[in-house]
Amino acid sequence: MGSIKGFMENERETPPVRPVEERLQDQKECYAPFPEEKYKKQGARCMDCGVPFCQSETGCPLGNLIPDWNDMVYRGRYKEAVELMLKTNNFPEFTGRICPAPCEGACVLGINEPAVTICNIEEMIAEKGFELGYIKSRKPEERTEKKIAVVGSGPAGLACAAQLNSAGHEVTVFEKDDRIGGLLMYGIPNFKLDKVIVKRRLKLMEEEGVIFKTGVNIGVDKSAVELKNEFDAVVLCGGAQKSRDLPVEGRDLDGIHFAMDFLPQQNKRNEGDMIPEESSITAEGKNVLIIGGGDTGSDCLGTSLRQGAKGVIQFELLPEPPENRIESNPWPQWPKIFRVSSSHEEANTREGKEKITEYCVATKKFSGQGGKVTKIHGAKIMFGDLDPKTGRPQMQEVAGSEFEYDVDLVLLAMGFVHPIHEGMLKELGVKLDGRGNVWCNENKMTSVDGIFVAGDMARGQSLVVWAIAEGREAARGVDKYLMSTTNLPHSQFLK
Ligand SMILES: Cc1cc2nc3c(=O)[nH]c(=O)nc-3n(C[C@H](O)[C@H](O)[C@H](O)COP(=O)(O)OP(=O)(O)OC[C@H]3O[C@@H](n4cnc5c(N)ncnc54)[C@H](O)[C@@H]3O)c2cc1C
Ligand code: SF4
Repeated sequence: MGSIKGFMENERETPPVRPVEERLQDQKECYAPFPEEKYKKQGARCMDCGVPFCQSETGCPLGNLIPDWNDMVYRGRYKEAVELMLKTNNFPEFTGRICPAPCEGACVLGINEPAVTICNIEEMIAEKGFELGYIKSRKPEERTEKKIAVVGSGPAGLACAAQLNSAGHEVTVFEKDDRIGGLLMYGIPNFKLDKVIVKRRLKLMEEEGVIFKTGVNIGVDKSAVELKNEFDAVVLCGGAQKSRDLPVEGRDLDGIHFAMDFLPQQNKRNEGDMIPEESSITAEGKNVLIIGGGDTGSDCLGTSLRQGAKGVIQFELLPEPPENRIESNPWPQWPKIFRVSSSHEEANTREGKEKITEYCVATKKFSGQGGKVTKIHGAKIMFGDLDPKTGRPQMQEVAGSEFEYDVDLVLLAMGFVHPIHEGMLKELGVKLDGRGNVWCNENKMTSVDGIFVAGDMARGQSLVVWAIAEGREAARGVDKYLMSTTNLPHSQFLK
């Protein structure tokens, strides 16, 4: 344990964010530097609990050995901290930056004090690891003769590839986009995760022997069955790419786009790519409405502001979350409370509002002129008793609450329904579960022998940390399938 009175002597402190005015001028990450001594004090706040809920099932999905690294940071023992971290997580430099930190929601200190800053400490250890040369390419000592194809290069595919490569197999990752990284590269904005960080990891993986092939859409450019015949095993890590639509009148008007048609374009511009005029979607000089109050919506907000939107507003169908946990959402569950993302802080500051998001709002239709959207027509809604059929609260429009709002650009950020079924999945004929995700057994094998699945394609829209856990578990399943036994570790909560 770092320090007996650590949590009594030190308050929770997170790295400062750069001023809003400054960060809206660039695409760089929002956080400013934080001195090493301050991280040590934060590490000292950890109580080294007898039962560390931070690494329990409601905490870190990877089962990260959190209290141990907190102590090592306090003592400056970074080499050991890095080694310990890499035992459970292939990419702490990603999760340390963008994980919403279920571990902090489950931290015992969080019962009556602000939780330990686990995520910031994770990022710091990862960066120390790179700076001091502890994180470097590690080639397997022996190679097997087995060849594995991983389809999709998001965090699930990358974690799976890294694990299988470490077991000595030859791994080829196929990606339909022109760059590797999945949502880490195209989706998550640079101001949350700088792509230099992604490319740094990809370089290491290439040095370790992982083969990357971009611009290959399996099921379209190359047959999935052909792939199955060429490789000893295939792992499907294609994500949950089917965006949820809003089928109301006027949906077809120009200027209404899915968030995932908008966000990757900015990632590409940041990489120096030119987006052709006819397909370019930008918020510059426009009144932007973002429909959907989640993380993707928040990313659209930050991106629109950086592009120079004239005005921004965000609608959410559900009620505003409470400031604090409610009785039905006790510790150590993930706290479903009101949060202000860096993008919300930027929007509130620029628009001079206390809160940019309007809750309990339903979109009834869009209207426009000359084929272009100019107005959204909405109404306020309220939630009543639980619907006996769905178990969800019944929604009712508030009489006389209809309104109109002038818009030039509408971004639909209402989540994702399931993976894309056409193409690869249809060709392979894998069984789907009740939600349209790919079904798999406890070894992550699908209904087709030798075909495995991991990440959002298996569990539906989720988090980077879960994708890594899934990828690791699928790697274990593949290794066992090919070699009859495996030394690759289980992902703690997917066994
Ligand atoms: C805008 C946005 C912001 C997010 N922010 C966060 C965040 O801050 N923190 C967090 O934890 N999570 C966040 N998430 C969720 C997180 O990014 C996902 O849960 C995670 O990336 C899923 O990983 P994956 O590897 O399963 O799939 P993905 O990252 O979606 O990668 C799938 C890859 O497979 C490729 N592919 C699909 N089909 C084929 C095919 N047939 N052939 C070849 N390639 C194929 C796709 O092109 C894609 O590159 C965010 C999601 C979005 C959309
Ligand atoms: S639950 Fe919180 S205080 Fe306890 S060991 Fe984990 S990080 Fe430390």
